[in-house]
Amino acid sequence: MGKTISVVVSCYNEELALNQFYHETARILNKLNWDYELIFVNDGSQDGTMKILDDLSGKDKKVKVISFSRNFGHEAAMIAGLDYSSGDGIVCMDADLQHPPQYLPEIVRKLEDGYDVINMVRTKNESAGWFKNFASSAFYHLINVLSDVKFEPNASDFFAISRRAGDVLRDNYREKVRFLRGYVQNIGFNRATIEYEAGVRVAGESKYSIKKLMAFSLNTIMCFSNLPLKLGIYAGCGAGILGIAMMIYTIWSWARVGTPNGYATTIVLICFMFSVLFLIVGVIGNYIAILFAELKDRPIYIVGETKNFLE
Ligand code: UDP
Ligand code: MG
Repeated sequence: MGKTISVVVSCYNEELALNQFYHETARILNKLNWDYELIFVNDGSQDGTMKILDDLSGKDKKVKVISFSRNFGHEAAMIAGLDYSSGDGIVCMDADLQHPPQYLPEIVRKLEDGYDVINMVRTKNESAGWFKNFASSAFYHLINVLSDVKFEPNASDFFAISRRAGDVLRDNYREKVRFLRGYVQNIGFNRATIEYEAGVRVAGESKYSIKKLMAFSLNTIMCFSNLPLKLGIYAGCGAGILGIAMMIYTIWSWARVGTPNGYATTIVLICFMFSVLFLIVGVIGNYIAILFAELKDRPIYIVGETKNFLE
């Protein structure tokens, strides 16, 4: 029996891009020697996304739809696609054609060669703007310094995995504060890399604001490294040394010039110490928030309806 590829596409308010995405992707998938299923995850869109998906899944039985009860985020959408997928290989893609479907034949060839993880690495990201590109490369540098897991710089949410890799991710990586791209780096197996040029979003606008990306990056760093938690030890040592130095200086200047003016020094020290303290409290607070999310064990996503899945 021939093999099947599952293509998982997360969609949040993508009514403007979806038809074009479907036509371009299906055209390429139809030419492959693998069968396919095209799984669209509607992440609680408020626009006409579901209507388009209803139409597509009515006309084409290979189009399958998982529709969430509300917006749960891109990460939740990807794991839902993985949970429902049944192919011998799984590809995650964005709905805006920034992940060019032209690479699907090459991806399938790599899967046939026995690779379990195929990282799609961006060589260029025209549409992102200098700040997003700079922030993204800073993020990858920082996380590679802080974490034991080695991240491919410029990795994206465009990647492919074999069935056995997908099963490992599906069964063992059920964290609530999630970063699938990181888990993909974490599982090992035979790995390959394909370089690609990220296109420009075909229609609609980016759903990721800078604020959202900052919060996401902070959580991800904390999920993959405990070093920030140990910040207090280093900061405490540093502040201690500074305190001793200040003490020696104070005694010295007191002996030489009589009583020194301690007002400015006191203010500086208080500001410094409090900023260090608040930073540490904030870091610990964020770890507690992540822990709390795991402890509550709420669902990663809730499905409202599905289309074209058997049973
Ligand atoms: N997306 C999603 N849920 C969200 C936000 C985004 O499923 O809450 C999807 C979105 O529809 C797109 C993909 O995730 O297919 C990437 O989002 P986007 O293109 O807005 O991000 P960017 O490419 O600008 O980083
Ligand atoms: Mg995009």
